[in-house]
Amino acid sequence: MYLLFILKAFAFISFIFISFRLLSLEFLCTIAERPRPTTISNFKLVLYTKTWQNRLIMRIDYKARLDEANSLPDIFEVVKSLVFCSTGKSRGGLMLGIANLGNHPQGFFGGFFTTGSNVIVLNKIPLQRIKETRPELYKPYVFHVMLHEYIHSLGYLDEEDVRTRVHQITRDALGEDHLATQIAADTGSFIKHLAYPDISWKPEDTGLELVKGFDRSSVSYIA
Ligand SMILES: [Zn+2]
Repeated sequence: MYLLFILKAFAFISFIFISFRLLSLEFLCTIAERPRPTTISNFKLVLYTKTWQNRLIMRIDYKARLDEANSLPDIFEVVKSLVFCSTGKSRGGLMLGIANLGNHPQGFFGGFFTTGSNVIVLNKIPLQRIKETRPELYKPYVFHVMLHEYIHSLGYLDEEDVRTRVHQITRDALGEDHLATQIAADTGSFIKHLAYPDISWKPEDTGLELVKGFDRSSVSYIA
C-alpha cells in the first residue's frame, strides 16, 4: 500500500520536474532571441537531453531564419540563438571586426577570435572572393565562420573539437544538404571559392573596421 503510494508520488514529482525543465528550456530559447536580464543566468542549471534539444532546434526553423538574415549582425543573432538552444551556452558583449587578413589558398584563414578578447574578426578577402565566384555561398559561409569563432569565444580552444561541434550543430539545425553543413563537413573542397588561387599575400595594414549593431541581443544589459 505504502509502496504504491510512494511510487505514485514519485511518478507525479518526476512529471512535474520534467515538465518544468522542458518549459524552462523552451522559455529560455524563446527569450534568447530578445534582450534579457542578467538574472536569467539563474536558470542555467536546467538540464538538457539530446532529444529535447533536437526537438527545439527542429521547431525553430533555422534554415528560414538564416534565409531571412540580411546583414552580418542578423546572421550572428541566428548563430547565437542556435548555440544557446543546442548547448545552453551563450555570452554577450562581443564585437565584430572586418579586416583584410590576406589571401592564403594553402592555409585558409576565414577569421579569428583571440582568447581573452571580445572581438570576432572576419577576413574580408574570402567574402570578396565568394561574391565573385559563388554568391549563394555568402550566407552559409559567414554563418559557418561566425559559428566557429563564437564557439571559440565560449571557451572551446581545441581546433578539432570546435570543428566537430560546428559540424554537428549545423547538421542538426540546417540538415545534411545545406551549404553551411557541407562547408563544415569539408571546408577544403570550397577553397577555390574562398581564396584567390595560386597567390598568397598578407597585407601590412589589416584596416580593421568594427561592424555597427553587432550582438544586439546582449546590448540592453551591457550598456
Ligand atoms: Zn578555430
